[in-house]
This record gives sequence, structure tokens and C-alpha cells, in this order.
Amino acid sequence: MGRVYNFSAGPAILPESVLKKAAAEIMDYQGTGMSVMEMSHRSKPYEAINDAAEALLRELMGIPDNYQVIFMQGGASSQFAMVPLNLFHKSNKADYVNTGEWSKKAIAEAKKYGAVRVVASSEDKMFSYIPRLNKSMFDQEADYAYIVTNNTIFGTLYPELPDVGKLPLVADMSSNFLSQVYDVSKFALIFAGAQKNVGPAGVTVVIIRNDMLGHAKDITPTMFNYKIQADAKSLYNTPPCYTIYIAKLVFEWLKEMGGIPVIEKINREKAAILYNFLDNSTLFKGTVNPQDRSLMNVPFVLPSEELNENFIKEATQNGFVQLKGHRSVGGMRASIYNAMPIEGVKKLVEFMKKFEMANK
Ligand SMILES: *Cc1c(COP(=O)(O)O)cnc(C)c1O
Repeated sequence: MGRVYNFSAGPAILPESVLKKAAAEIMDYQGTGMSVMEMSHRSKPYEAINDAAEALLRELMGIPDNYQVIFMQGGASSQFAMVPLNLFHKSNKADYVNTGEWSKKAIAEAKKYGAVRVVASSEDKMFSYIPRLNKSMFDQEADYAYIVTNNTIFGTLYPELPDVGKLPLVADMSSNFLSQVYDVSKFALIFAGAQKNVGPAGVTVVIIRNDMLGHAKDITPTMFNYKIQADAKSLYNTPPCYTIYIAKLVFEWLKEMGGIPVIEKINREKAAILYNFLDNSTLFKGTVNPQDRSLMNVPFVLPSEELNENFIKEATQNGFVQLKGHRSVGGMRASIYNAMPIEGVKKLVEFMKKFEMANK
């Protein structure tokens, strides 16, 4: 069997050229006689990979000099605790926007360490939209404001960043990291688990403004202290070396194609193909408020559970895999991350058209 069209929400599809490069280098990485998996994280070749990964990411995102880049373990979920443990330091208050499962989990975790206020929520309509926000809704005394830029499960995306006044803005960008241009200087902290748009599971990228460092609570575990991790240049302990190496290959792939503005344009084209079809279909239906639609995760439904099941089954038989929606939403979800080629989306839509004709 050849490669399938993989619409998994994560761990997700990787660029084929990256997989090929990794395969070519697996027995002998650049004349070292070993794979990156087998080398000391204190060795020269590995340090070069670590440095190059950071430099490439800085270049791709235009990360200002007063920000640190940290490659961490523990997944995006560890950040749910790390953020409050490091950022609560003055009022011990934080403002969260609740836009889905991932913000709910972050809220629950932050509540262990301080006073969390949910400033707005879209739970009333199954998280199918992004609440409209304005500055007056945010408590200017809070230590930070927290959003999830792209909601992986429900398929929503902030059409624009909220105005939070002078509050440090923290963003969980796990599922749309590097998919569109963001001005990093608008954020105090960005984090993203790798397995959606960056590489294999195992590394979480943290981009943090210098003034956010050094306020960790006394109880903060050493490994959870951003300052300790930043000072050690992500090498406080053994990092997930191989994952960081793959991330570096993905960054190179993005740079070669022209960077984030180019991939954003492609991502918008891909999403438009799918949404246009959904908007004009008499059978399939998108589940998200059109203004707030994700470019990365596209949930949709058919009129009955039976049709949903048949569609997923037939799609799988035809090489379109991992299209089942999250258990909390049902139906289908096509995740079309950076590495999904435009042909994959076109072919999926062709298949959906055929399914529609056959099931009218
Ligand atoms: C996948 C995901 C997470 C959880 O990531 P883990 O690495 O599994 O902890 C958190 N937030 C968002 C937005 C995600 O998409």
C-alpha cells in the first residue's frame, strides 16, 4: 500500500520530503556514523541541530530578540500548569476565554494556582463560534489573558486577535502554529505541541517574552520553570533530540517554499476548496460559524449517524483516512495542516461529491 491522504488531527501528516530526508540520514547523520537518535545531546552535531532549529524558527516567525525560544517536553498539556505557575505573580488573577476542550483543561489547571475568570465562552452553542471580545471585558489587574488561537476539536479560529489592553497575552497555538502569519510581538507567550504542524509528538515549542521570565512560584518544579529552561537553551536535561531534528527539517521545508506568507496562502486556498463545497452541498454541512472557521481543522456532518458511518468507511477504503470527528462533536473532521497537499483536499472534495450523488 502506498501513502494515504491522512486527515488526522494529531499526530498528523508530515511533508514527504522531510520523511525522505530523515530516512536518508537515519543510518549515518552527516558522516557521524550514527542516527540523531543515538547521539549525545551535548555533542557538537546535536548542538548544531538545536541551534539551527531555533534560528530557523526565529527567522520564519520573525521572533524579536527580546523573546526566548524553548523546546520542551510534556506536551501542550504541561503548559496548562506551567503558564500559571510562572506567570501568576502580582494579582494572582488571570482572564481566560473558553472556546473548547483545550481551553477548559487549561482553565481547570490554572484554577489550582490562582483566581481564574472566564471572560467569555462559546459553550452555549457547542463551541461553534469565537466570542466577540473587547478590551473592557478584560481585567487590567490580571497577570495575563489566555486564548486558544485555533480550536482543534471544534474547528474555530480567532479571525483577529482580541484587544486585551496592556495584559500579557498567552496563546495556545498548538493546532495552527506556523500556518499563518502572526505578529509575535502581540503575545507575551506562545506555546504549541509539535504533533499538529511541526513534527512528531514529543516536543512543545515555547516562545516567551523576557519580562515573563523569573517570576515562577516557589513551588514550581525545576523542569517547569521557564527561566531555567531558557537559560539552559533547552538543554537543561536531555531534550527530545530526534523530534527537534525533525522539526528542524520541517522548518527548512517551510523556508524553502517561501516561508509563512506562502504556506498561509496555500492554507487559505485549501480551506476555501473544502468550505465552498460544504456551503453548496445539499447533503454535507459545516458546523462552524462562517466568520470563525479554522484553516486547519474542518468539522462537518451528514444528515444521519448512518450516513456519517458509511462515509467514513467508504472514505477509508478510498485512501482518505482519519476523518472521524472528535468523540465530543461526532460526524467528520478533516484536518488539513501545512503538510496536506492541495491535491489531497481536491481529491477529498471529489470523493465527497461522488458520495453526495450516490446518497441523494
Ligand atoms: C493537541 C492540542 C493540545 C494537547 O497537546 P498534547 O501535546 O497532547 O498535550 C492542546 N491544545 C491544543 C489547541 C491542541 O490542539
